[in-house]
Amino acid sequence: MTADSNPLITDLEAKLGADFVIDATAEAAVPYLTEWRGAFAPVARVVVRPGSTAEVADVVAVAIAHGAAIVPQGGNTGTVGGSAAHDPERQILMNLERLTAVRAIDTDNATMTVEAGCTLAAAQDAAEAEGFYLPIALASRERCRIGGNLASNAGGLNVIRYGNTRDQVLGLEVVTADGRIWDNLTGLRKDNSGYDLNDLFVGSEGTLGVITACVLSLAHPPRQRGVAFCAVRDAAAAVRIQRALRDETGDQVTGCELMSRQALALAVAHTEDCEWPFEPRHDWYLLIEVATAARGDWLAGIFNAALAAAQQRDDIRDLAVAETEDDQRTLWRLRESIPAAQTAEGASIKHDISLPVSKLPAFLAAAADDVAAVVPGIRPCAFGHVGDGNLHFNLSCPLDMTAEDFRAREADLNRVVHDRVAAMQGSVAAEHGVGRLKVDEIVRLKPAVEIDMLRAIKKALDPNNRMNPGVLVRI
Ligand code: FAD
Repeated sequence: MTADSNPLITDLEAKLGADFVIDATAEAAVPYLTEWRGAFAPVARVVVRPGSTAEVADVVAVAIAHGAAIVPQGGNTGTVGGSAAHDPERQILMNLERLTAVRAIDTDNATMTVEAGCTLAAAQDAAEAEGFYLPIALASRERCRIGGNLASNAGGLNVIRYGNTRDQVLGLEVVTADGRIWDNLTGLRKDNSGYDLNDLFVGSEGTLGVITACVLSLAHPPRQRGVAFCAVRDAAAAVRIQRALRDETGDQVTGCELMSRQALALAVAHTEDCEWPFEPRHDWYLLIEVATAARGDWLAGIFNAALAAAQQRDDIRDLAVAETEDDQRTLWRLRESIPAAQTAEGASIKHDISLPVSKLPAFLAAAADDVAAVVPGIRPCAFGHVGDGNLHFNLSCPLDMTAEDFRAREADLNRVVHDRVAAMQGSVAAEHGVGRLKVDEIVRLKPAVEIDMLRAIKKALDPNNRMNPGVLVRI
């Protein structure tokens, strides 16, 4: 609420009611204008919280009338500054948290229709209540929201089996940049009646329109699950193991996480109840999960036989197989504790990169040399989803260097890592998106023709640069 007589705010209040319009300088705006990593200092003119698709369209109409811009926001858990507004005069920060309905679950079609502001956890609970599984596995599930998941095409832990968020999307409802409502909540699995507009909005990071609802494809919940944690001969062995496991289980690998000893050592050092399952004698570790919705108890036999074969080949050197669900959680905690542990350890520089799986071992070796040449003593802390080629090639500050001196080298470190990725046909924005963080890097690294096409799409759908300006692509 605000006593401000600013005409933009007055018009927004007339549409949404004063309770849902917050002057950006007010205390109540702080949670929406705080970036959790501290990498951006968001500012806006006003924060709005529309309660329906029609109200989202109303806000866009008011923005058009006043020449204002809109920054859509879901759970504000993104890592690249996409939901961090940055213009105190022109930007309306639009949070979607009031659009929380699960509108329908169609059990025969195996789909759910859900609004953009529903948290991922609430959507998953609703699917589970109807006997389904919504396969988007993010540690931020309690806070991130479906609209944010779609707009950032979130990845996560089970992409190897179920694909990215994009692969779950069958239909969208969008408020376009000219304020119209596009209702494509069809739930069709086949529709070749033109360009795939759903796919255009998924991963568009709020730069083309506001996603207000979607139809998501649902899977069946896993009924058999196996988890193992192993020390591997080297990163190349990890790649061989995931290939063999996928082959042996008939593509039932649902998680395949590579971790360096350095990364795991931080997890163990900084996390309560997080211990090595065996003596850490090797440089690389792999956490593998297999799961299937099929009934029976046959998966464990295949899983154990495949692990034993990998031991015989000397690809696996130490092995812990979970016997109970508690064991499974304990092994997963090793992986899940790494990001927070790295923060607790001190200054770090993060790279969310992807490569063809076959190129990961060569990348890890070369990139470790590249960064050591820039900052001797640097501690690469690599971990990530080796099964889908996405690594978090994170770098921790040398023990004898100040955080300030380390930060001063960030641009140089980014450049050598990104150059190495580009030289190996990888992506420097694998699952977290471009946001404001990597706009210039993708211009530097992508072919000019690709940047021209991105700009042409942006100009066609948002000619006045009203939707999340400064994010993903500049026009
Ligand atoms: P926000 O951060 O609010 O927004 C993200 C982008 O989407 C912004 O550009 C915003 O403008 C746009 N946007 C938001 N809502 C809409 C909408 N309705 N319409 C149009 N545009 C919109 N990400 C992964 O990919 N994989 C992971 O494994 C992963 N793990 C994480 C773990 C933790 C602990 C945390 C904190 C984050 C993690 N993330 C991960 C990052 C983040 O959670 C995801 O990117 C998530 O999908 C963002 O959702 P959000 O609702 O918070 O979006």
